[in-house]
Amino acid sequence: MGLLDGRRALIFGVANDHSIAWGIAKALHAEGATLGLSSLESLLDRRVRPLAAQLGVEFVEPCDVADDAQIARVFDRWRERYGDLDVLVHALAFANREDLDGAFVETSREGFHRALDVSAYSLTAITRGALPLLRPGASVITLTYLGAERAVPHYNVMGVAKAALEASVRYLAADLGPAGIRVNAISAGPVRTLAASGVSGFRDMYAHFREIAPLRRNMTLADVGGAAVWLASGLSAGVTGEVVYVDGGFSILGVGLGE
Ligand code: NAD
Repeated sequence: MGLLDGRRALIFGVANDHSIAWGIAKALHAEGATLGLSSLESLLDRRVRPLAAQLGVEFVEPCDVADDAQIARVFDRWRERYGDLDVLVHALAFANREDLDGAFVETSREGFHRALDVSAYSLTAITRGALPLLRPGASVITLTYLGAERAVPHYNVMGVAKAALEASVRYLAADLGPAGIRVNAISAGPVRTLAASGVSGFRDMYAHFREIAPLRRNMTLADVGGAAVWLASGLSAGVTGEVVYVDGGFSILGVGLGE
């Protein structure tokens, strides 16, 4: 008996086997969920379909979340195939590389719009697209980072986008709570992924993290996947609008001296 037997989950954001979305896919699958994966079209054949095959996932559809027509198409395809949806996972983000390097004050208008559109607005866009398919008890999960609340070197415009994403979680949770739909975010400690490699200085930050975090280790895909199982299941039935930290306790610290 799995915690997610009979539940159907659609996961956005698998780029490769290091992706947090992939860690979540494996964890939900292990608890019995039926999965679908959506990613950028350019990644599907080379990266996503081979991974989907490992879990026996048959629903693999392209979607650029900056394009409303592509969002509508994914949910049309899901409706045709499965009818309703119990779990929606948003594990994606984008900012121009140059905006994750220099000074935040240099962020261009175009770069700001792009980061906020793809990394924050897209949660509202895909949640709205999924709405006709979501039933009472459904759970929407997104991924955020401490850079939403604190100024983290080089995180820059992505921190602003994550702040907007976390506020969106609260507004969506308030909107959809009366329909029995929950919306939460997981704030993960640094994980070595493709997106993370675009943030200057990530390697040093990753290494320092395990010296400072109370649990004295880096977070794994399994750590994040476990929290996603909890948020996707009835075990978290009373939790909505929250940011759940999966960061080894890093965010509780006032001063990070390590040993
Ligand atoms: P990743 O590179 O594996 O995943 C990012 C995904 O975003 C990719 O699949 C990419 O294709 C997708 N994406 C980018 N633009 C898109 C668009 N226009 N339409 C559809 N998809 C698009 O990296 P990841 O670290 O697994 O990132 C997943 C989420 O986790 C992101 O929201 C990220 O900010 C968040 N997060 C990551 C860390 C970390 O340290 N890696 C920590 C906290 C939160």
